[in-house]
Amino acid sequence: MPCIARRARPLVLHGTLTTFRRRCGKPACRCAAGEPHESPALTYTEDGRTKTLTLSAGEVEEVRAALVRYESAREELEDAAREGIAALRSRRGGRT
Ligand SMILES: [Zn+2]
Repeated sequence: MPCIARRARPLVLHGTLTTFRRRCGKPACRCAAGEPHESPALTYTEDGRTKTLTLSAGEVEEVRAALVRYESAREELEDAAREGIAALRSRRGGRT
């Protein structure tokens, strides 16, 4: 896919916004004994596996909007599919 076409398209994402918690492994770090480090993250499924992508704070709103974009596109597609079934059915109804 050409790069320009990809950039022209608004970001679309299928996944879930979560908070990723981890201990960095440094023995002197506050996370060793206390609260783990937290960062916003996106979990998504790829090849049947759940993956996590950590996000910068600045990316969260962009990702949230991209998730909404996916959901509304999917709803539109499902509506179209329901209309497709209804159209097929009415065609059958008209014939009998
Ligand atoms: Zn740490």
